[in-house]
Amino acid sequence: MIAEIAPRLEAPAFVYDLAALDAHAAAVRAALPGVELYYAVKANPDPELLRVLAAHVDGFEVSSAGEHAHVRAVLPGARLAVGGPGKTDAELCLPAHRLHVESPHELRRLLALRSRADVLLRLNLPLETAGAALTMSGPFGMDAHGLAECLPLFTERVRLRGVHAHLASGLEAPALLDLASVLLAQHDEEVNVGGGMAVSYASPERRFDWSAYGRGLTALRRPGQVVRIEPGRALTVYCGFYVTRVIDVRRVHGAAFAIVHGGTHHLRTPATKGHSQPFTVLPTGSGPGVEDTPVTIVGQLCTPKDVLAGEVRTSIRVGDTIVFAMAGAYAWNISHHDFLMHPKPGFHYLT
Ligand SMILES: *Cc1c(COP(=O)(O)O)cnc(C)c1O
Repeated sequence: MIAEIAPRLEAPAFVYDLAALDAHAAAVRAALPGVELYYAVKANPDPELLRVLAAHVDGFEVSSAGEHAHVRAVLPGARLAVGGPGKTDAELCLPAHRLHVESPHELRRLLALRSRADVLLRLNLPLETAGAALTMSGPFGMDAHGLAECLPLFTERVRLRGVHAHLASGLEAPALLDLASVLLAQHDEEVNVGGGMAVSYASPERRFDWSAYGRGLTALRRPGQVVRIEPGRALTVYCGFYVTRVIDVRRVHGAAFAIVHGGTHHLRTPATKGHSQPFTVLPTGSGPGVEDTPVTIVGQLCTPKDVLAGEVRTSIRVGDTIVFAMAGAYAWNISHHDFLMHPKPGFHYLT
């Protein structure tokens, strides 16, 4: 479908396959019986995506007043959990189904600001996260000392409902189940095990094992316990494509480069994660090119960091259309759009 429409699009453009997102979210939902599913909005807050996800998730995790206002405007009735490592007073006062409190000081501020709140304490667990893409070590949440300091502070109306943890990104089901087993054994009422499900940019067809995760969570859950997860990337990454066109192909000191419309100011993901964004070349061009050669695909920015894919063997010519896959999460919304003042991409939605 994307291969049919991409050659006709003005480049650069983002294309979101909403039908694919709908099917994927439905499959994830079905694999997790009895588990509450929230979407972590920071992965991609595009309103069209949020509206599709709303049919499959129980709520949304927001991490700023801006995300909170955005989701309330797009989906007025949605259940929200408010998180974030450094909340302002205004953010601590936001209406929320759950507030994820990060520290004893934050809890004291909350108690001074509000008479009512339903709180999950965010824990920073010293668990092994070998293989993780990005470990949330550092200031996120509290250790056992912080937890002990918080517990006596709760009141009848500022209630402790349970705990929350988001360990790392890029975790496979067994590692996430290790985390869940610790949390579910130690805390009775409600446990949010976070997001961070692995996606592979090197092998896009290798998907997180939602069925194994769902079976594992079902086995760990005790009667009466609420188990919630809040994935971001693994829900939306696959539905997005960044479509661009080749402006120039050149060899410099022997190395082959394709320069394309747009760049990492639209799709920063490969620059931040240090990978080659997976792509396909559609042969729409008739200009000069290279055949079956390692090619580095770069954008229009005046910096050597503007690399979308490095030394990937391909045939490519001027005028070809390149479709970058896995551009539905941490892509447009994490990119530095205004650097060099190139035009913004178009946005298209397949339904
Ligand atoms: C970023 C984040 C998520 C989502 O992480 P993914 O890797 O996109 O699944 C979930 N919970 C918290 C607290 C986060 O910071």
